[in-house]
Amino acid sequence: MIDVLNSPVTILRGIGQKRAELLNKLNIFTCGDLIRYFPRGYLNMSEVNPIDQLKNGETVTVIGKISSDVSKRVGKRVTRFLFSVSDPKGNTIFVTLYNQKYTADRLHPGMTVLLYGPVEVVGCVRRMDAPKIRINAIPEIEAIYPLTEGVTHGSLSRNIATALQACEAQLKEMLLPEIREECDLPEIKEAFRAIHFPKTMAEADRAKNRFIFEELFLFTVGVRILKLRVKKLTAPKLQPTDLMPFLNRLPYALTDAQKRVIRECFDGLRRSHPMSRLVQGDVGSGKTVIAAAVAYLTAKNGMQTALMVPTEILAMQHYESLHQLLSPCGIKVELLIGSMRAAEKRDIMLRLEAGETDLVIGTHTLIQKNVKFRNLAVAIADEQHRFGVQQRAAIQEKGNNPHMLFLSATPIPRSLGLVLYGDLDISVLDELPPGRIPVATRRVGSDAEARMYNYLREKALSGEQAYIVCPSVEGSDEMKSAVDFCEKLRETYLWDIPIAHLHGRMKNEEKERILTDFVNNRISVLVSTTVIEVGVNVPNATTMIIENAERFGLSQLHQLRGRVGRGKKASYCFLVSDDRSEDATARMDAFCATNDGFEISRKDLELRGPGDFLGNRQHGLPPFRIADLTRDMSVLERVSTVANHLFEDPSWFILPENRALFIAASEMLRSAMLQ
Ligand code: ADP
Ligand code: MG
Repeated sequence: MIDVLNSPVTILRGIGQKRAELLNKLNIFTCGDLIRYFPRGYLNMSEVNPIDQLKNGETVTVIGKISSDVSKRVGKRVTRFLFSVSDPKGNTIFVTLYNQKYTADRLHPGMTVLLYGPVEVVGCVRRMDAPKIRINAIPEIEAIYPLTEGVTHGSLSRNIATALQACEAQLKEMLLPEIREECDLPEIKEAFRAIHFPKTMAEADRAKNRFIFEELFLFTVGVRILKLRVKKLTAPKLQPTDLMPFLNRLPYALTDAQKRVIRECFDGLRRSHPMSRLVQGDVGSGKTVIAAAVAYLTAKNGMQTALMVPTEILAMQHYESLHQLLSPCGIKVELLIGSMRAAEKRDIMLRLEAGETDLVIGTHTLIQKNVKFRNLAVAIADEQHRFGVQQRAAIQEKGNNPHMLFLSATPIPRSLGLVLYGDLDISVLDELPPGRIPVATRRVGSDAEARMYNYLREKALSGEQAYIVCPSVEGSDEMKSAVDFCEKLRETYLWDIPIAHLHGRMKNEEKERILTDFVNNRISVLVSTTVIEVGVNVPNATTMIIENAERFGLSQLHQLRGRVGRGKKASYCFLVSDDRSEDATARMDAFCATNDGFEISRKDLELRGPGDFLGNRQHGLPPFRIADLTRDMSVLERVSTVANHLFEDPSWFILPENRALFIAASEMLRSAMLQ
């Protein structure tokens, strides 16, 4: 028997090469694609309204016979076709079609037609302008599909019907009856029929729910199976160690949340299967010290830690602070970044391979082929949302099933986290270090420039520091480049203030010098591109000015704002923008209203949708056909509950009746990895 679902559409009656090429444009290649080409909505033409009871403005379905000739009025740009339709009682409605010559030519007096659209009733005169018109049709619900030139609704619908018939015998139910029952979902054959050819809207909704559920369920199950596989691997077991020497060197006491998360990490590291843990904490919640504690434990077990970060600036900064913290405890910390001299890199790599280095901090350089470890036990990715699935996998391959720790400052909504990180354990840092004052955020127009920068000057004179972020290095007309802008400020408002610029393309030594000067308050104001977006930590900086703020997404603005408000002094963030568009205003208003990262990412997700929200990076989401993570969060929660329940007995999916589910889930996972 041939596998119809995976066969090309050309095996179907009525689909030749030409037709197939048209369908390919809609991403339909196989019969399976065709039946999974889901409608994006429905026209409910199933309830026929009597002509004499029509009300002005209603969208209605009317059936009657054409009761006049079809008269044609040719205008300059539009050609109108006018005719009337009457019911057996003699009630009449006047119809106008525009430019639909093909349709109009087929209409003749006496023919029965179905009309669907808004109606206009003035006195006893009823009119329909440009209604949908169907000849000899029965009143029904019609699916609306995204179409392309040459593919009409009718022809596509016929193709789908043919495909459904051909595939029917091979459709396999993947959802257990008890799950379908519990969640009120129709059985698979019924669902396919009902989503394309529903008899009632309720039936269509139920079918749609089933497919949304199925998609999210398959992915969730795939991710859980992956997690079970990881549990079978053997990782280095790290024995508990006395943390006091480390804690005593910290200039502050850990928050309860930090203590808990460190405990959760240590607990995972003690086990014989690799830990895979995501630490989620808002900007400034103190994630770095978690990484430091983990590196400490690992070193005391005689093994190595890698800390991978997205930018060189952040790598250098982490190196400074972790070196200072850990080397007095006898731990060897090294920095490895791409812009170092070749000889220097070679020496570092030799020490790494010889096992002389306990903790190495670096950028993507760490995953290059020639970088080797002696015994990498833990790989940490800071700002992990900046790394794709592949990069995360590459660092993992540097050791023998090392433990993985991901730090993320872009808090994602819980339910989205379930899909993206279903294979991870999650630790939440839900507490900021004591004494933090929320950053006061204000939106200003560029006309407020003088006032704002005079204020900034006063702050600088009183010893506090500031960042100014400009969107790009080359100053195009509307964008203020960091370099030019810095020059301008130096010549005007900030003439007596130490000020410098920073951007990604500067030489390494220069970047390092400027950052060190800023950290030591030899520079008061830093004009920068978004290179300071992630991780940079200077608690004495209290003002953040974001020029052309409309250019940034909500989460990015939140990251930038997170550079201030890190100390005990009140901090301010100004969004400079003259963009009055609805879109920009909505974003900036939402941003000014809250300091809560979770709230902001929820809003960001809502405004941009998951694709944009997660960026073009390899985020590990499969291409969903029907599920929409923004809209279907509640389904996702349900899916996850059901999955939890199923996985209580981890052997359930080996049962023969779950084979189809197992295969489909693995396939779904593969498509996510290939993204
Ligand atoms: P994150 O990476 O989560 O944005 P960092 O690790 O950079 O945050 O920490 C932000 C600032 O808070 C740093 O200056 C750090 O020294 C400080 N900090 C971290 N934990 C505490 C704490 N428990 N008490 C006081 N300050 C802390
Ligand atoms: Mg950080």
